[in-house]
This record gives sequence, C-alpha cells and structure tokens, in this order.
Amino acid sequence: MAVASFCFHAELNDFLPRYKRQVIISHSFSERASIKDMIEALGVPHTEVDSMEVNNNFVNFSYIVQDKDTINVYPISATPDITPSVSVRPLPLSVIRFILDIHLGKLATSLRLLGFDTLYRNDYDDEELAEISSSQSRILLTRDKGLLMRSLVTHGYYVRSTNPQQQIVEVLQRFDLFKIVSPFQRCLRCNGLLTPVAKEFVIDQLPETVRWQNNEFHRCEDCAQIYWQGTHYQRLQQFIEQVLDSKTVIE
Ligand SMILES: [Zn+2]
Repeated sequence: MAVASFCFHAELNDFLPRYKRQVIISHSFSERASIKDMIEALGVPHTEVDSMEVNNNFVNFSYIVQDKDTINVYPISATPDITPSVSVRPLPLSVIRFILDIHLGKLATSLRLLGFDTLYRNDYDDEELAEISSSQSRILLTRDKGLLMRSLVTHGYYVRSTNPQQQIVEVLQRFDLFKIVSPFQRCLRCNGLLTPVAKEFVIDQLPETVRWQNNEFHRCEDCAQIYWQGTHYQRLQQFIEQVLDSKTVIE
C-alpha cells in the first residue's frame, strides 16, 4: 500500500473531519489516482483549491500521486494570489453571475436585491445546477460539497455560514463585490430587470393607499411585478446598509 502525506491549509480545513484538521494526514492508497480525485476523496471540493505543491513543486490537477509524496494544498482566498502562474483556479469571469441551490433562497433574494444576476429555483436538480453553472458561466453557490465536486463545475463556492445575513456578506467578501453593489435593479421574485413605469400605466393594479402616497414606480420586465418605495422599501434599505457596513466589521 502506498502512502502520501497531505497538509490542507487555512480554510480548506473546514471540509475535513475535526480530527484531520490542521494536521498532516497520512493517506493510504492502492490505485492510481490524480491529485484532484484524492483531494476530493478526502472531502475538499476542487473549486476551493488555489494551488498544490508536491515535494516542493507546484502541480496541476492531473498530477498522479506517488508513494511517499508530501502534498500541500492551498485555498483560494479573497486576497490576490502572489504566484498566479502556479494557480489552478479558473480564470475570473468577466461578468459576475450566480446560480444557487435550493437551500439558499434567502441568499438568492439578497443577491438580487443588491443587483446581481442570480438564478434560483426550488426545482433545479444537481445535474441542472452544474450544467447551467458551466454553460452560462455562473458561479455556483451551495452548501453541498458533493455538488462542487462535479467536474463540470469550475466556478463554485461553498457557503460556510447558515445565517442568511452573514451569507450575503461572506459572498460579497469572497468575490470582492462590495464595490459593484447596485441595489433595486432586479426583481426579487424572478431576477428580471426593473424599469421605471409611469403611474398611469399601473394605477389599476395598486392598493388604494399606494395610489395616493407614491409617484415613482418600477416594473419587472419579465414578470410585471410592480415596485414602489413603501414601508417594505425602508426595511430593505436598512438591510442593505447593514450588509455594506459589515464589510469593515468582518475584515
Ligand atoms: Zn419579476
């Protein structure tokens, strides 16, 4: 039986069982396997890996692990990589767009609220999520490690927090998005773009009180939902401010 030693750095330890965190893991194997497969067998999705060093040389995912190899695995972090030439992380996307799994509905709404193109449906299965992420170049956000281990998925991220407000801060931070937040541009229901619409065109669809108190309206280009600055708007505004403020708290 061959043995390789693995050392996972920093937040990659989040994926390991407690007794394997922050220690050198001796991994026995009898079959030929790539470093990518072995890292995933130990529980770490490839989408979280920035670079891998084997016996002090950087390698790519197709490297075949040998007996007595000493392996260091480094995570993708929000800070720029100082050695981009050895990184296995995919090229950054020119446009940041997302697709989320079924468990992240609140995060999907928050991302739309902040202006990010975000696909979310409660009936996508894992195969569809991976396929859409790949074909439409969308970052797949999930709390399912297995989903990120699918080979089709190149741009993905495992959301650590289970608290929706922390999740949005975590994602903004991970992808460095605070500067491109653009609230109230998208429909929270369907992800469609909002455009201004004159009151006369929507007045029949408005509740009585809204008719007299508001003069500015937006309508979703896709599902025709109407938006105005009611009491709900104040709450959303407050939420956005809290999220943007938390940047400094977390850093
Ligand atoms: Zn809509």
